[in-house]
Amino acid sequence: MNFEQPRAKDGRAPDVFTPGGWTPMRQYAESEPVDFLIVGAGAGGATLACKLAEKDFSVVVLDAGPFWRPLDDFASDELAQQTLYWTDDRITGGEDPIAL
Ligand SMILES: Cc1cc2nc3c(=O)[nH]c(=O)nc-3n(C[C@H](O)[C@H](O)[C@H](O)COP(=O)(O)OP(=O)(O)OC[C@H]3O[C@@H](n4cnc5c(N)ncnc54)[C@H](O)[C@@H]3O)c2cc1C
Repeated sequence: MNFEQPRAKDGRAPDVFTPGGWTPMRQYAESEPVDFLIVGAGAGGATLACKLAEKDFSVVVLDAGPFWRPLDDFASDELAQQTLYWTDDRITGGEDPIAL
């Protein structure tokens, strides 16, 4: 898999319930205002995005990591899981930066 290229683009995203499948994805132009921008599509961010979208808010989610297909990409042993982890440096700032 090419980790540098986003999988969710051109109006579609991987369908996590169907191996190799796709699902429509709403896209917004850079000049188009939205109600919420969420950084991080993990357990917290993705759940929040889903709940806001269900309430008809417009939501954009940015994630630094790859868009996984759990049925295709997930591995059940720890060695194979090393290819799944996003191990790039995490950077925090502000007056009280968090040690990561
Ligand atoms: C191997 C493993 C097994 C686990 N098993 C369980 C389990 O069985 N049950 C359970 O309850 N919990 C489990 N956990 C813990 C659970 O995954 C975490 O508690 C949960 O994912 C934390 O949610 P989060 O939204 O805070 O962060 P995450 O889910 O880690 O999401 C953070 C997201 O933000 C993205 N991100 C980070 N920095 C940036 C940035 N600067 N810009 C853009 N995007 C960024 C990351 O790519 C990631 O997608 C497990 C964790 C691991 C590692």
